[in-house]
Amino acid sequence: MHELPFAKSIFHAVVTKAEANGATKVTRVVIEVGVLRDFVPEIVQKYWKYVTKGSMAEDSSIEMNEIPATVTCGDCQTVYEINVHDLVHTHCPQCGCQTGKMLTGRELRIVGIEIE
Ligand SMILES: [Zn+2]
Repeated sequence: MHELPFAKSIFHAVVTKAEANGATKVTRVVIEVGVLRDFVPEIVQKYWKYVTKGSMAEDSSIEMNEIPATVTCGDCQTVYEINVHDLVHTHCPQCGCQTGKMLTGRELRIVGIEIE
């Protein structure tokens, strides 16, 4: 389960940031995650509860905004969204080219923290 180390690293980053801002409690965390990271929101929620237990972030909620995977076509530069569950059949809708440069989909960042 790669969600556990993920939840832990988010947790450490959140606490560090909250403490630097003189917070005593974290109430809400919003993150952006690219679909290629393949995280299951329900499992992240579960681990979030686990890693925050007894900390200043206990009982805080975590929201995940999924970023779709997009590619820039290597041929005609069209930007298109790819289906991560069917990469074999991925091709440019304009020219049919199968090579491209990954644009988004691997994000992993904290976009918001609510503190008290
Ligand atoms: Zn193309």
